[in-house]
Amino acid sequence: MAIELPSTRMNTLAAAWSAFLPLTETDWREARKAPDACDFMTGDPQEGPLAGYVETLQQNLIPERHDWFGYHQGNPEAAEAAAKSLREWCGVPFEPQDIALTNGGFGALAASIRAATDPGDEIIFNLPPWFAYEAMVRDAGAVPVTVHIDRETFDLDLAAIADAITPRTRAVIVNTPHNPTGKIYPPETLERLALLLDEASTRYGRAIYIISDEPYNRIVFDGKRSYTPAEFYPRTFLCYSYGKVLLAPGERIGYAALPPTMPERKQMRMALTLAQASSGYLIPNTVMMYALPELERMSLDVEHLQQKRDLLVDELRAIGYSVHRPEATFYLTPESPIDDDWSFARMLAEEHVYTMPGSMFSLPGYFRLSLTANDQMIERSIPRFKAAFERAHQEQSATQLQAAAGTDD
Ligand code: PLP
Repeated sequence: MAIELPSTRMNTLAAAWSAFLPLTETDWREARKAPDACDFMTGDPQEGPLAGYVETLQQNLIPERHDWFGYHQGNPEAAEAAAKSLREWCGVPFEPQDIALTNGGFGALAASIRAATDPGDEIIFNLPPWFAYEAMVRDAGAVPVTVHIDRETFDLDLAAIADAITPRTRAVIVNTPHNPTGKIYPPETLERLALLLDEASTRYGRAIYIISDEPYNRIVFDGKRSYTPAEFYPRTFLCYSYGKVLLAPGERIGYAALPPTMPERKQMRMALTLAQASSGYLIPNTVMMYALPELERMSLDVEHLQQKRDLLVDELRAIGYSVHRPEATFYLTPESPIDDDWSFARMLAEEHVYTMPGSMFSLPGYFRLSLTANDQMIERSIPRFKAAFERAHQEQSATQLQAAAGTDD
C-alpha cells in the first residue's frame, strides 16, 4: 500500500519509483545473498575487485599537499585523462574544461537535466527506460514524455520520437548501449535522430538537447563499438559512469562531457557547475578524482563477460527460452515463458534464481538477467532455469485445461 509522504514532491517521486514496490514485498534482497543463490538481479559485482583497483585507491589516499582533501570542484589531470580517452575512442576532440566530473552516471544525468531545462519543459525518454529517469526528470520540475523503442529491432523508434516533440520539448534522453536490451544504436539511427532534432529545434525556435546516458559504452561484444550521439549532434551531454567498467558502482565517479561543437558550451559549462553545486554537490570525492588517470586504464574482462553471455544464451535457448544475443552491456532479456513475468520471476526465485521481471521497467513479458553473476552461479542456474521453465508450462497447460473444462460445462 502506498504511504502518504510529507510533501507533494516526495509523493510524486514515490509514484515515479512505484514499479519497485512489488520488490519490497519479496525477501529477494536478502535471499539473493544466500550461499547457493544465483543472483542475476542487478549489475552488482559478484567477485572481488579488479586487479590493482584497491592499490590505486590506497596510493591516492596519501596526501601530497595540505589541501588534498579540500573542496575541489574538479581536477585537471582527471579531466584531461577522461577527455583524452573520449578523443581516442570516438574521434570527437573533447577538451578537459568541458568535462564536468560527477559522482557517477546518476550525478551526470541529474546535473545535465537541470542544466538544460526549466520547470515545465518536456523531456522525452525511451521505454524500456533506466529506472531513475522519471524520478530525475520530475525532481527537476520537468515533464517526462515516453515513447517505446521498436519492439522488433530494439532500435529507437524515430517516428515515435518525432511525434512526441512539441514546442515544450527540451531534451531527449538516449541510452546507448541500451539497458536492458543490450542494443547499440547504429550510426545511421543517431544521424537521423540528429537531423530530426535539428529540424524540430529550428521549427520551434528553441534548442533541443540530447542527454546521452552511456555507462556501458566500453562494454561491447564481438569486436563492435558503441557510438555516441555527440559524434552526430553538437547539443549533446555525454553522461558517463566508471561504475560499470570497473565493476565498482559504490565508488562514485563519472562525468558529463560537452563536445567542442556545442554552440553554447561556455554557458552550459557554467550551468553544469551551478547544477552540481545546487543539487547537493554532485562532485566525486577527491580520492576518486586523483585516481581517475589510472582507473581510466582498467576494465573488467569484457571477453569473459561475452563468454558468459554466450553460455547463457545457448543454454537458455536449448531449454526452450526465446532470448536474443545482446551486443553490449551487462544484460540479457529473455522472454518469460508465461505472460505474467512477475509470476515467472517468483517461480525462479523459488529455485533461488533472482532476476528482474520486465514489468518493473516497462517490458512486460520479459525478465532481465545481469551477466555480472559469477561462473558458479551461472553453472548452478541452468537446471533451475529448466525446472522453472517446465513448471511454468505445466501450470499454464493445467490452467488452460481447467478453462476449457469450464467452457464445456
Ligand atoms: N544509466 C544506466 C542505463 C544504468 O544502467 C546505470 C546504472 O545501473 C546508470 C545510468 C547509473 O550509473 P551509476 O550508478 O554508476 O551512476
